Amino acid sequence: MAISVTLSRASDSIYDYKLPWKYQLFRDVLREFLRTEISDTVEYYDKAEIFPEVNIRKFAKLGYFGIPIPRQYEGAELGEFGYGLAVQEITKVCSSHGTIIGAHTGLCEVPIWLFGNEEQKDRYLPDLASGRKLGAFGLTEPGAGSDAANIKTTATKRGDHFVLNGTKQFITNGDRADTFVVFAANDLALGAYGGISAFIVERSFGGVSTAKVEKKMGIRASTTAQVVFQDCPVPKENILGSFGAGFLVALTALDGGRASLSAGAVGGCESALEIMIAWVHQHPKMQSLQSVNWMIADTAIDAHVARLMSYESLEEVGVYFERLARGEKIPRPDREAISRHTAMAKAFCSEAASRSIERAMQVLGAEGYTEGSGVERAYRDSVISEIYEGTNDIQRLVIARDLLGPGSGNQQF
Ligand SMILES: Cc1cc2nc3c(=O)[nH]c(=O)nc-3n(C[C@H](O)[C@H](O)[C@H](O)COP(=O)(O)OP(=O)(O)OC[C@H]3O[C@@H](n4cnc5c(N)ncnc54)[C@H](O)[C@@H]3O)c2cc1C
Repeated sequence: MAISVTLSRASDSIYDYKLPWKYQLFRDVLREFLRTEISDTVEYYDKAEIFPEVNIRKFAKLGYFGIPIPRQYEGAELGEFGYGLAVQEITKVCSSHGTIIGAHTGLCEVPIWLFGNEEQKDRYLPDLASGRKLGAFGLTEPGAGSDAANIKTTATKRGDHFVLNGTKQFITNGDRADTFVVFAANDLALGAYGGISAFIVERSFGGVSTAKVEKKMGIRASTTAQVVFQDCPVPKENILGSFGAGFLVALTALDGGRASLSAGAVGGCESALEIMIAWVHQHPKMQSLQSVNWMIADTAIDAHVARLMSYESLEEVGVYFERLARGEKIPRPDREAISRHTAMAKAFCSEAASRSIERAMQVLGAEGYTEGSGVERAYRDSVISEIYEGTNDIQRLVIARDLLGPGSGNQQF
């Protein structure tokens, strides 16, 4: 299914692209909801560092918790493209909200949709897609961030269930989630491929606790927690995908996560551009300043290129995920090419967003640096896209490894 964004100057827009009507309608309805219900609240939640429970309930009620998930599981069935568009629009207003919904959707419910058996999908997806339950993704550990294959959380078989022991670090929604996709070593000696399994873990299984909630520079309204699994009993029926093949589940989830993250960064570029243009219109003398003109032009270029890369990546991942959901086996070279494309989109778009927001800060001067301008918050928020779901160094390793072949870079990602 090709989505094909048409490049044509819409009269009411500074952007040169037109979405297919279905997505345009979806985006416009979401924009209106964000404008009327959410945007006035986001500074408060950021400053207070409070999880925006009321807002999150509203998103859930309107169906924004299951955008790519098929309707039979209470999702909106709008694919990765629709999901990416939503992340773009939500992040444009607030990265914390984008992160909460992104971790829930892309990293918890999407892998269950793609790798779950029918029983698992029936059991978990409706509650997640409707937002009755919140999801999280537990891969990172104190000693395993970029080096994700080095996880030490163990899954030990005991009768008809596994027992999980270990600590997961920096887990978005980790202190509040009901349902986790958790990665644990079934055999530490076997390494990434064969030695790691993915599990669907309910908090209600017991043995799940929050050791710490991080204080952060940005995305302060989203929670990032250290989660401890201590003798956590998980039924063997809750292995997600094949036993020992959890690393593939993680990498696939991260492919989708990186594509949607790139879309969030497009939102960051657009927000910076719109803020700069509005500011210069309010201060007409600035219009003749060449440095300001250039910053606006460079941001327009970044927003445009980021959008093209992100949308292409979302389209590709969308087709990939539909094939996976149908049970098709995707050859490794194809998977690696998709990973390269999502890595390129993630690295470029996140850096474009950071550059763009820094320019907005320069154009607004002291006003941009102070609280309440939105720019100060966006500046603190934007950096995280260069770090989570794999730092941009790791994205560059993924790209180079696929181009250079075996023997290059780090072979784990
Ligand atoms: C706010 C937030 C939310 C997060 N949410 C989640 C979540 O929901 N679930 C989850 O599992 N994780 C989550 N993470 C973890 C995140 O994915 C990791 O922080 C990230 O992968 C980087 O790992 P690290 O912080 O341990 O950095 P490290 O791996 O320690 O890296 C430190 C530096 O070394 C560089 N580096 C490391 N290895 C290499 C290499 N081989 N080649 C070149 N450079 C290298 C890195 O690029 C980086 O600059 C979150 C993190 C944050 C901050």
